[in-house]
Amino acid sequence: ISQKIIKTEKMEMVSHLASSISHEVRNPLAVVKGFLQLMENADLEETKRKDFLQISINEINRADTIIRNYLTFAKPSPENIEILNIKDELCKTIDIITPLANMSSIIIDTAVKPFFIKGESQLLQQCLLNICKNCIEAMSNSGTLTIETASENNHLHLTISDTGTGMTKEQLARIGEPYFTTKGREGTGLGMMAAMQIISSLQGKIHISSTLDKGTTFSIIFPLINK
Ligand code: ADP
Ligand code: MG
Repeated sequence: ISQKIIKTEKMEMVSHLASSISHEVRNPLAVVKGFLQLMENADLEETKRKDFLQISINEINRADTIIRNYLTFAKPSPENIEILNIKDELCKTIDIITPLANMSSIIIDTAVKPFFIKGESQLLQQCLLNICKNCIEAMSNSGTLTIETASENNHLHLTISDTGTGMTKEQLARIGEPYFTTKGREGTGLGMMAAMQIISSLQGKIHISSTLDKGTTFSIIFPLINK
C-alpha cells in the first residue's frame, strides 16, 4: 500500500511540474512570437528591430532559466559526480556575472582558494549563478559582492555576500519557497528553490542572514574531499 501512495504522489508531482512549466514558459514564448510578428514588417526601423530582437533574446533566456530551475526537481540527484575545484568553479561563475555587475557599478571582491569538493559542475554553476544574480539584483545602484572560501573541520565554507537591500524577517523566512518573489513580472521565485535543492543534493548546507538596507550573506558548507 505504501508503495502505491508514493507512486501516486510522484505522479501528482510530475503533473504539477508539467503544468507549471507550460504555464510559465508560455508567457515568454508568447512575447517572442509577438515580436517576431512585428519584425515581419519590412519597413521596421533598424533601432526598433534591434530592440525587438533584444527583448526576444531576453525572453528566451527567461524561458530557459525557468525550465532549468524546474528540472532540478525532476532530476533531484546529480548524475555526473566529479571532483570539483571550487576556485575554478567560482572563476567560471564570476566570468558570467561580471558584465551584469559592471552594469550596476558593482565591485566583485574575491578571496578564493583551491578546495576540492564532490559535485556536478553544471548543477553547482546553476546554484552559484542563481545566488550571485540575486545579490547583484539587490544592489541596483552600486555595491560590493564578496565571495570567500575557507576550510574548517573538513568542510568548505563558501560565503557570498552583498551590500544590497537586504530582507525583512518575513521575506527571509520565505526565501526558497516556490514562486516567492518580490520582483513582480521580472521574478520567477524559482531561483533560490533550485539553489537550495542543489546544495542539499550535493550534501551541503546553506544559512542565510540578512539585514534590511545593509545586505545579505549566504553561508554555504560542503564536505571537503582530501586530494
Ligand atoms: P527571483 O529572483 O526570481 O525573485 P529567487 O528565488 O531567486 O526568485 O529569490 C526569491 C526572493 O528572495 C527575491 O525576489 C528576493 O525578494 C529575495 N532575495 C533573494 N536573494 C536576495 C538578496 N541577495 N538580497 C535581497 N533579497 C533577496
Ligand atoms: Mg533570483
